[in-house]
Amino acid sequence: MATLKIAIIGGGPAGLTLAKLLQKANIGCKVFERDAYRHAKNRGGSLDLHPESGQRALKEAGLLDEFKKLSRPEGETLRIYSPDGNVLMDESRGEPGRPGEFANRPEIDRTQLRDLLLDSLAPDTIDWNSRLLKIRAQGDSKLALLFTNGNEEGDFDLVVGADGAWSKVRSSVSETEPLYSGISGLDCRISDVDARFEELSAHVGQGMCLNLGSDKGLLCQRNGDGSVQLYAFARLPNEWFSTCGIDFTHPRARQEVVDALFPEYTALQKSLVLNSDPDTVGRQLYMLPVGFQWTHNPRITLIGDAAHLMNPFAGVGVNVAMEDALELAHAIIGEKVEEEQLSSLSVRLQKFEVGMWKRAKQNAEATVMYQNLFFHKRGGVAMVEHFAKRRQEDEQQN
Ligand SMILES: Cc1cc2nc3c(=O)[nH]c(=O)nc-3n(C[C@H](O)[C@H](O)[C@H](O)COP(=O)(O)OP(=O)(O)OC[C@H]3O[C@@H](n4cnc5c(N)ncnc54)[C@H](O)[C@@H]3O)c2cc1C
Repeated sequence: MATLKIAIIGGGPAGLTLAKLLQKANIGCKVFERDAYRHAKNRGGSLDLHPESGQRALKEAGLLDEFKKLSRPEGETLRIYSPDGNVLMDESRGEPGRPGEFANRPEIDRTQLRDLLLDSLAPDTIDWNSRLLKIRAQGDSKLALLFTNGNEEGDFDLVVGADGAWSKVRSSVSETEPLYSGISGLDCRISDVDARFEELSAHVGQGMCLNLGSDKGLLCQRNGDGSVQLYAFARLPNEWFSTCGIDFTHPRARQEVVDALFPEYTALQKSLVLNSDPDTVGRQLYMLPVGFQWTHNPRITLIGDAAHLMNPFAGVGVNVAMEDALELAHAIIGEKVEEEQLSSLSVRLQKFEVGMWKRAKQNAEATVMYQNLFFHKRGGVAMVEHFAKRRQEDEQQN
């Protein structure tokens, strides 16, 4: 097993967690990442790690204590407003909110999670500036990787695609492409919110703050670095993005998006977008079909968004990605394998993939359900009713 040559494509949460777990078991691997350097991407909101998946993977990687020092339990609260500024639900005031399963999910900034994993890896594990172009077979049992910078690396026994939504590795095992999920909008950030916008800071609170209208929302998340991550998203046809005439990278996109999508919101809610930093990003959210699978390949597999891209509305993407990494590490290490017939890596990979597809399908179904609650004709009222019903069901069961 120690002689296996393993390539991981993509240094996101899935790829880095896998690399760490393999190294901990003394199995070598190389991560090829398209970013030019560690901090090339500094965007992205706060992520909550769940005990049964993200936290479990960090525990096995020996990083749970470090995570606990960095994470913010106070970031777990949820507050929901209607577009007229009324509070529909506020967990930070001790009001009943989401059911018990949402407990113990502390938040960490995406960049902090990346640094935590990167700092734990052996030097030279990551090949930065290595964007995979394609995979080529080398004889019967080895694979070579071709990169857009002209480099080529060969003799790999296993290639793991952890290269996210638009995975290049996925195209080696499937022709399926992500589909538009029906949600588009503007990704913004309000930096240094406490010092600059006291009223907005109080409106958002310390956790997640959803301002939900009919089929639309201003979705805010407090980050550990004193900023607020904000998504101004709505249910929109695919062509809206290219035909609406808004340049989503221009500072005036903030006013144009507010005028086009959120005219009925209060002045305070609109100012969340209007006072955000000028470097906005337009986003269209894509997803792989629920239940996506591929024909098993003994030398190539996928994990994380590459295997099951889903929208962020159930807050599970990073957790499922890290659980994939954990289960794949088990399959490669072989420690969980007892039966004789599971001795070959290919059979263990197949077993891993079947388990991952099942988990991914359940999480993708939950994501679709939550997407329909975030973007509901009746706005936040539907989500508040959903949580009340879930609490009642929990009470009846206990
Ligand atoms: C707007 C938004 C908000 C989100 N919010 C949440 C949330 O609150 N909670 C949550 O759990 N999830 C959230 N998610 C989902 C979460 O970000 C993903 O599920 C998670 O990052 C998946 O991890 P990954 O490692 O599989 O992929 P990624 O994080 O996408 O990492 C893939 C890596 O591969 C690299 N790469 C890509 N192509 C190549 C290539 N050809 N060659 C080499 N490297 C390559 C990329 O640079 C990247 O570093 C959100 C997603 C979006 C879009």
